[in-house]
Amino acid sequence: MRAFLADPRTEVLGSGSNILILNSPLPQVAQITAAGWQALIVGEQVYLTAEAGLGLDALVRETTARGWFGLERLAEIPGTVGAAPMQNVGAYGVQLSDCVTGLTVWDRARARMAHWRPEDCGFAYRDSRFKQEEPRWLVLSVGLRLSTRPPADWPPLSYPGVHAAAEAYSAAHDRPFAELTPADLAEIITRVRRQKLPDWRNPPPGSAGSFFQNPVVPAAQASALRDRYPQLPQYATDQPARVKLSAGWLIEHCGWRGRREGDAGISAEHALVLVNHGHASGAALWSMAQHIQRDVLAHFGVPLIPEPRLLGAGERPASG
Ligand SMILES: Cc1cc2nc3c(=O)[nH]c(=O)nc-3n(C[C@H](O)[C@H](O)[C@H](O)COP(=O)(O)OP(=O)(O)OC[C@H]3O[C@@H](n4cnc5c(N)ncnc54)[C@H](O)[C@@H]3O)c2cc1C
Repeated sequence: MRAFLADPRTEVLGSGSNILILNSPLPQVAQITAAGWQALIVGEQVYLTAEAGLGLDALVRETTARGWFGLERLAEIPGTVGAAPMQNVGAYGVQLSDCVTGLTVWDRARARMAHWRPEDCGFAYRDSRFKQEEPRWLVLSVGLRLSTRPPADWPPLSYPGVHAAAEAYSAAHDRPFAELTPADLAEIITRVRRQKLPDWRNPPPGSAGSFFQNPVVPAAQASALRDRYPQLPQYATDQPARVKLSAGWLIEHCGWRGRREGDAGISAEHALVLVNHGHASGAALWSMAQHIQRDVLAHFGVPLIPEPRLLGAGERPASG
């Protein structure tokens, strides 16, 4: 097993929801199937360890059903716990890194185990040291800290669509906002996501969710874009000189929403979602994605970075 993992041709996969295979088949694949989890409750804190093969959504359901706060806004994101730190999965204003206490990893280059603290992980928006140094690190388990007590800003409803869905949910269940539980929030988020994202449990269409990261640009460029396009959604980041733009808006305003070329297309519900309606090849999907990148760059001067991992011949150098 050590030699198999040390071989750079071995691709580690979770559930395969965030990859695009350019040239199939993959030579050899490793997948972690251990899917247990355990928790220790100390006062209001819940210290939890989950193994890499567990589904992230399954963990969200388990923890929110127990009334633990922390993971509810990550409901309905496909994939495994082990893959989640790679791009620091996030949604609706939270990221996995907000509750990570540490990780146990296997170093494929040196064939040894390591334990990482959150500050070692290089977590950032849709990024981490694991992603930067891929394929060196194999995530074996993730430690998280949740809480039995709601945070000060509970319930978190500020995102577009979430507030309206919460109003409908509260009215239907006769429950005021302040009494919404973590499981209620997970259900509200699930409803919002199902309205605009393909059902990852039942393809087609297949998708990798958002195909591009929301671009983070210098504040001066964002300001110039705001003058020309006042409707372009812009979000503050934790760096004052950098502003995050809506990639979906940029793509939609290049006319891509709902477009289809053979079985490759852009979702009609969400311009950020590249979809496979049936038998589009990885190469055809990537060709469309590159076309979109060129259009957005030409129209707005903004480069788009793909979010999924591209797998294919010559895609990355051999590991050490
Ligand atoms: C419909 C849809 C909606 C989505 N919505 C969101 C969203 O809201 N927010 C978000 O952040 N993401 C979202 N995603 C992306 C996806 O859910 C995440 O990237 C998820 O973490 C991928 O998990 P996976 O197990 O399928 O990983 P895979 O696709 O199998 O692998 C992804 C990468 O992680 C690596 N990897 C997998 N497991 C391990 C491990 N144990 N150790 C080391 N490396 C590993 C793989 O080598 C690969 O590079 C969405 C995807 C879809 C299809």
